[in-house]
Amino acid sequence: AEELLINSEKLSIAGQLAAGIAHEIRNPITAIKGFMQLLRSGRTEKPMYFDIISSEIERIEMILSELLILAKPQLIHTERKDIQILLRQVTTLLESQANMNNVQIVTEFEPCATYVLGDENQLKQVCINFIKNAIEAMPHGGKIQIQLNRTNVDTILLRFIDQGCGVPEHILAKLGQPFLTTKETGTGLGFMVSKKIIENHNGTIKVSSVENEGTTIEVCLPAAK
Ligand code: ADP
Ligand code: MG
Repeated sequence: AEELLINSEKLSIAGQLAAGIAHEIRNPITAIKGFMQLLRSGRTEKPMYFDIISSEIERIEMILSELLILAKPQLIHTERKDIQILLRQVTTLLESQANMNNVQIVTEFEPCATYVLGDENQLKQVCINFIKNAIEAMPHGGKIQIQLNRTNVDTILLRFIDQGCGVPEHILAKLGQPFLTTKETGTGLGFMVSKKIIENHNGTIKVSSVENEGTTIEVCLPAAK
């Protein structure tokens, strides 16, 4: 009976996700169709419509690439990776986006071994998602602290601390559900995908947030030898 319950629960989650995907992808498709029709009628500002169509296609691509991470069967490329090096690469990648938004990324890494067993690309995706959310939470700029240390012999502790708007209470309770977003162009998938990846790595995640003060995302991952 318990197994049946688990199965029906899985089904309803799959159903929920399917409905969400259908809805999220139908919107840009409707827009693309509409602008294609306008283009065909030939009495329009063409360049602008091409821009809109490409950005709507990009949106569909973004949704699909985030969903594909979920479809991957557990971990595929498990390697011994230094989280510290990975974080340096990710912060370099996001530096210009941070600068453009007057956001300063400060890394506070303890001098200790920070190896984990995992999929490099997936772990990078997690860090990118959290740093992007932090940047987006600070429209007037601010500081993101990235702290890395070991709590004990077998756990690596990673924190992303921002001084942003904070996660609204009604969102905080539901974080991890798909298509949950407060942003005009958000997908509401980044957090869910990140949480899933961390769980696939036998890690845990904790969010604490105070409105208009900031948010701390705390990630624990098992340390590799
Ligand atoms: P998206 O960024 O596309 O909106 P996410 O899944 O990454 O989707 O995040 C879901 C929502 O959680 C965001 O829309 C935002 O409301 C909230 N959120 C996540 N991270 C933060 C943060 N660091 N500060 C404030 N709000 C956040
Ligand atoms: Mg996001």
